Amino acid sequence: MVAQQLRRRGIRDPRVLEVMGSMPREVFVPGLPASVAYDDRALPIDSGQTISQPYMVARMSELLEIQPGDRILEVGTGSGYQAAVLATLGARVTSIERHADLAESARERLAGLGGEGSASIDVRVGDGSLGEPEGAPWDGIVVTAGAPSIPDALREQLAVGARLVIPVGPREQQELMVVERSGPNDWGEWSDGACVFVPLVGEAGWSDIER
Ligand code: SAH
Repeated sequence: MVAQQLRRRGIRDPRVLEVMGSMPREVFVPGLPASVAYDDRALPIDSGQTISQPYMVARMSELLEIQPGDRILEVGTGSGYQAAVLATLGARVTSIERHADLAESARERLAGLGGEGSASIDVRVGDGSLGEPEGAPWDGIVVTAGAPSIPDALREQLAVGARLVIPVGPREQQELMVVERSGPNDWGEWSDGACVFVPLVGEAGWSDIER
């Protein structure tokens, strides 16, 4: 996986490659054989959601440029895999999931995994499309579901110098947008390329989808 899916497609950060190589992805997709867990695609988890493709997890992690101790907000806990990768990179992660059952099983899974990472992940239930103002400013925000546009609330919750990584665009396909806050009133943004995510459902997401 690391050689063929990550290195070959340009993931360079040695820490990201190391963490992705050591994280047991099969733990996050119970019921699927380990051989499938490392496939080059998103895989189904409960509640009609998905665990992201390995490349996407690696790329989003790389774009966040995690420094040890960074406080990172993740919107869309899902299986907990991305949160585990970020925590093992040294981040203190707050992760919000709208499906209570997914949040609960992610919590249990992360506790069972142990290690340096799992103690520094706080999984909460709710609509994360407006971020988590109480914990702001964040040293990085990653949204692992596709939004119709970049929520202003998320830009505002970035520390100066921090990045927001978020898939933005129509339901079928999005652009992986990177928003960097370069000053108190300055934000730059660019696309890192095309991607496909399940929808961000909520107030600053797709509000018309059935909850
Ligand atoms: N990061 C996950 C990928 C999960 S898929 C992993 O590594 O496995 C996206 C997740 O976002 C889904 O579980 C979905 O329920 C959740 N989600 C969608 N809209 C949300 C919202 N507004 N707030 C919180 N979670 C949301």
